[in-house]
Amino acid sequence: MTFICDTCGNEVTIEEGTLSWVDDGNSLRDFKITHKDDQDHHDCEPNHVVYIHLRMATGLVGYMKLSEIMADYWGKGYTLDDVNGLKRVLNLIGVCIWKKSKNPAS
Ligand SMILES: [Zn+2]
Repeated sequence: MTFICDTCGNEVTIEEGTLSWVDDGNSLRDFKITHKDDQDHHDCEPNHVVYIHLRMATGLVGYMKLSEIMADYWGKGYTLDDVNGLKRVLNLIGVCIWKKSKNPAS
C-alpha cells in the first residue's frame, strides 16, 4: 500500500509517510502526503506544521480521530484555506482504507 509523495514524487509507504498541514492559529492550509522528511511547508513557522503518520491516518481509529481533530478546528472558528487540498488527502486516505478492507494482508 503506497502513496505518491507530494514533494519528491516518489512512492511513500504508510510506514514512512505523513499527512501534514499548516495550522497558523486561525486557518488551515497546505495539506500534503509526503515522506516525513519531505513535508516542506517552507512558507510558515516550523511550529505551525502539524502532522500525523499515515499508518495512523489509514487505520479506522486514526481516521475517526482525524475527523475529530478537524471538527475541533471548526469548533474553534478556524477557516479552511485549502478546501480542495483537504478533500484530496481525505479521498486518498479513504481509498487506502477501502483497499485495505478488501485485502487486509497488504
Ligand atoms: Zn518524498
